[in-house]
Amino acid sequence: MIVMKFGGTSVESRDAITRVTSIVKKYEERRPIVVVSAMGKTTNKLLAAAHEAAAGRRDQALTIVDELRGSHLTHGLALAGPAAADLDRFIRTHFEWLDELVKGLSVVGELSDRSKDAIASVGERLSSLVVSFAFRAAGMPTQHVDARRVILTDDRFTQAQVLFDETYAALQERVRPVAEHSVVVMGGFIGSTKDGITTTLGRGGSDYSAAIVGAGVNAEEIQIWTDVDGMLTADPRIMPGGHRVKSISFAEAAEMAFFGAKVLHPATVLPAVEKNIPVLILNSKRPEVDGTRITLDAAPCANPVKSISCKRDITIVNIRSTRMLMAHGFLRRIFEIFDRYETSVDMLSTSEVSVSLTLDNTENLNSIREEVRQFAEVTVEEKQAIVCLVGENIRHTPGIAGRAFQVLADKNIRMISQGASLLNLGFVIADKDLSSAVSALHKEFFSTLDPAVFA
Ligand code: ADP
Ligand code: ASP
Ligand code: MG
Repeated sequence: MIVMKFGGTSVESRDAITRVTSIVKKYEERRPIVVVSAMGKTTNKLLAAAHEAAAGRRDQALTIVDELRGSHLTHGLALAGPAAADLDRFIRTHFEWLDELVKGLSVVGELSDRSKDAIASVGERLSSLVVSFAFRAAGMPTQHVDARRVILTDDRFTQAQVLFDETYAALQERVRPVAEHSVVVMGGFIGSTKDGITTTLGRGGSDYSAAIVGAGVNAEEIQIWTDVDGMLTADPRIMPGGHRVKSISFAEAAEMAFFGAKVLHPATVLPAVEKNIPVLILNSKRPEVDGTRITLDAAPCANPVKSISCKRDITIVNIRSTRMLMAHGFLRRIFEIFDRYETSVDMLSTSEVSVSLTLDNTENLNSIREEVRQFAEVTVEEKQAIVCLVGENIRHTPGIAGRAFQVLADKNIRMISQGASLLNLGFVIADKDLSSAVSALHKEFFSTLDPAVFA
């Protein structure tokens, strides 16, 4: 049994879903369970509609919903063959419900996280239906499973935490037996509380769903099908032309994901590691490419660095003790405040009187700032970026930091950190320097390539 996850671009249109259908057909003997994202940019559009509605712009919200209805009908019905009338009914029912919800929000004028999840979930509920109809029309025995019946979570809406015991039990009971004889299709990203209230696992969470399903059914492999050839040596949005990394460890992949490699949701690795299930990253537009294989132990690599990750839109917060030295309990007080505002810190550096940290979520920064001001000075720097060199060999290779900072000698490097895991070297620079910094580092570390690891 294997899990095959297809991301938004892989199911964005009739043609894309036709490609997915032929890929899945090739794997039919391996008993695939297919997890899909919402079609294209549907999630963004659903959330935009929700915000418009809550801001009282009801007509704008309904227009967005209408466009989504149109595109789902156009692409979906073209794939459903003789069952098109059934799919038409399903799609229209979902959109009627959405119309009502949006109208309700525009009356209430506010948007709770619970309503956000209810609306955002429609993307995966629909895409999974459309894909299951397409598979059936192509002659594959197919069973649609509502992910909300098997992915059980707490009620932290928009960031729900998975209840693993309950979820694994439900997957064993409701998915594994069905997958023995049919291709199971389910939506990623969504789940529900034990009381049946819809939740989501956080943006980009379909990769995580796939890993949870894989671990729950004890799959042999988890395949993440996306729009790039695999994990690359650099983020293609910052520096095109990076090389494909053929083999990488779970620890390295997790570090890359955490520091911005959007190709993999950072939580994906956990369930896979726990059951030691290999994860493959593959390109649905170029299925003939071998992709990236993520396993417990990666192939030995002669290059010290495997990849350069980056994370944009980072804010640095500098907190300076108003006393001569940082008093006992100073850090605890600071982190207690960040914790209370559920704001996580990515990178940290301290000196005798100050601490600097980076945030990517600044939603609660004003409140945090007010509280910290009670006992320390606070300054904030926006438009920063984290750059992170990742590779297990970094710890065994002297001089990596020297080489990195040598090629960046003309740039202002703000914070430096070598993660406790010792497999990354990260620092912060101004966003305007990001692309030239990544190019310079890439040239330094990837001008010769170990052919066993890089394509
Ligand atoms: P999906 O919709 O399939 O989940 P995502 O957009 O979430 O796809 O992730 C794929 C994207 O991740 C790529 O198109 C690429 O721009 C981005 N990305 C960032 N860093 C990397 C990297 N190191 N290697 C490959 N892709 C990366
Ligand atoms: N559709 C969701 C999102 O856009 C989940 C995913 O695609 O992974 O965030
Ligand atoms: Mg993704």
